[in-house]
Amino acid sequence: MDFLPNDEQLQLKKSVREFAEREILPHVMEWDEVSRFPCEIVKELGRLGLMGVIFPQEYGGSGMGYVEYVTTIEELSRVDGSIGIIVAAHTSLCSNHIFIAGAEEQKRKYIPRLATAEHIGGWGLTEPGSGSDAGSARMTAVRKGNKWVLNGTKTFCTNGHYADVVVVIAVTDKAAHTHGLSAFIVEKGTKGFRPGKKENKLGLRASDTSELIFEDCEIPLENLLGKEGDGFIDAMRVLDGGRISIAALALGMAQGAYESALKYSKQRKQFGKAISEFQAIQWKLADMATEIEAARLLTVRAADMKDKGMKTTLESSMAKLYASEVAVRCANEGVQIHGGYGFVKDYPAEKFYRDVKLCTIGEGTSEIQRLVIARQLLKD
Ligand SMILES: Cc1cc2nc3c(=O)[nH]c(=O)nc-3n(C[C@H](O)[C@H](O)[C@H](O)COP(=O)(O)OP(=O)(O)OC[C@H]3O[C@@H](n4cnc5c(N)ncnc54)[C@H](O)[C@@H]3O)c2cc1C
Repeated sequence: MDFLPNDEQLQLKKSVREFAEREILPHVMEWDEVSRFPCEIVKELGRLGLMGVIFPQEYGGSGMGYVEYVTTIEELSRVDGSIGIIVAAHTSLCSNHIFIAGAEEQKRKYIPRLATAEHIGGWGLTEPGSGSDAGSARMTAVRKGNKWVLNGTKTFCTNGHYADVVVVIAVTDKAAHTHGLSAFIVEKGTKGFRPGKKENKLGLRASDTSELIFEDCEIPLENLLGKEGDGFIDAMRVLDGGRISIAALALGMAQGAYESALKYSKQRKQFGKAISEFQAIQWKLADMATEIEAARLLTVRAADMKDKGMKTTLESSMAKLYASEVAVRCANEGVQIHGGYGFVKDYPAEKFYRDVKLCTIGEGTSEIQRLVIARQLLKD
């Protein structure tokens, strides 16, 4: 059992960290303030091979694995969770759905452009009336001649307004319940498809979260992704990978919150000494560092298992649940250690506090992760 990253992984970590600190950090608060989607950074990440880390080189990807992918997401999110979620939704939701369920022609057509960020991807499962209960989706896809006709609304789609390609799940056979859901690829500019309301969010404000609206939207038959009726099952397989990326997103933000609190605690003086000399502060820092390390082990273990081709439903949910709850605790303590300065925007603590909350909600809430974990435990 090897718990240490190899030289290539360390090099990747270093180069993503340097990129994030040089290109992203100076703009983080400005993008957050005005909810600006940093298109130019996304394109640059594509040029660096970071928008398709997990895909083979023959499909335009970087030919690396999930361990490298979580390293990338962690390092980006340590500086800005918005960038982390943009890359995560693009890679492990949209592109990966096409990669794991797509026909060869679909993979050849879409993955190379997504992996290089020539195209940005989005993934729509959630609807206004179906979130945790994603199987009760109501958007419909009806076959009419040589077309599928899509009608309905997806909500909370990350990258929604900027996506050139979206994968959406729709009902093709209502009577078959979750076995009557199918996945479709829809391209930007298709008549009858448009992004709708852009959410004004608590955190991750530089990422875009939008509705997708389909009104008699006709797409070719070949845009069915995977087998008809397998859309929900494939979506759950996609989430096995996606949840590892949310764990990495949480981990990166927890690490960022911890580092800024550690630094501040050494600078801030009260009662004639640095606050880091008070045991109350030291215990907070010790708990934060320990829990972050435990979250990292769970996350990397799930990623490593995925790279070995193992089923990770249980491990992905454990990593996602634990890392996201650790991140919320760390961001909370980060604000506390900063005192009043944690409540204002001059320090990164308040932004981490707002941003991390998404991690206990997106790609299945903490309650749903516990349900998934318990189901796996009770299965046999
Ligand atoms: C910023 C952001 C980005 C997102 N990006 C995407 C995306 O790209 N694509 C996409 O498809 N979706 C996306 N989502 C949607 C996200 O996955 C859902 O918000 C999430 O799954 C929860 O669904 P909901 O919001 O409808 O909450 P609900 O399902 O209504 O849940 C409300 C509360 O009830 C609890 N609850 C529900 N069912 C149970 C149960 N059986 N047992 C116990 N408690 C339960 C929940 O845990 C939660 O606390 C995003 C959301 C946000 C906020």
